[in-house]
Amino acid sequence: MTTMSTTDLRALIRDVPDFPKPGVGFRDITPVLASPEGFHAAVSGLTELSREYRPDHVIAAEARGFLFGPAVAAELGAGFVLARKPGKLPRETVSVEYSLEYGVDRLEVHTEAIGPGARVLVHDDLLATGGTARALCELVEAAGGEVVACAFLLELAFLDGRERLAGRPVHALLRDD
Ligand code: AMP
Repeated sequence: MTTMSTTDLRALIRDVPDFPKPGVGFRDITPVLASPEGFHAAVSGLTELSREYRPDHVIAAEARGFLFGPAVAAELGAGFVLARKPGKLPRETVSVEYSLEYGVDRLEVHTEAIGPGARVLVHDDLLATGGTARALCELVEAAGGEVVACAFLLELAFLDGRERLAGRPVHALLRDD
């Protein structure tokens, strides 16, 4: 399958004003998943951004991190690790607390999913404030792994999320300024 341009890929993402509340410009990525060419371009673009880091694992958080993450992991020859909301994973977990706009939340990962010294790529569909990705980095490090890079489909650069990931390489296939 030929890979579409990043311009065409960005055009698949729909900007929805004032969702889920007034003032928020929501980026709806569902048309990327609905398009075989779009999904292929997203997965291969993310894979190429990430290949040089030779990760053992790709980690992402529910729900939208689970859309591209497993496919990218498979292309990289890496395992996929699920970070979930509390109480969803059945075995022993490590967890981190992170702040949301209002209040706090937690993410958990199976303790044995990331071995000591494992090279881990942090992924999400979208980098906004960086809170979710930072929590993923802290989870990896709490479990004894090393964050080798962070890779996103779309970065909302005007929110400066990459500042919260300081010290880790940050890549995005698409960027809104
Ligand atoms: P953040 O923790 O602020 O970087 O937010 C990242 C997470 O929230 C990602 O999993 C996104 O799916 C979601 N998200 C945040 N802002 C938006 C937005 N404007 N449009 C779509 N999804 C968003």
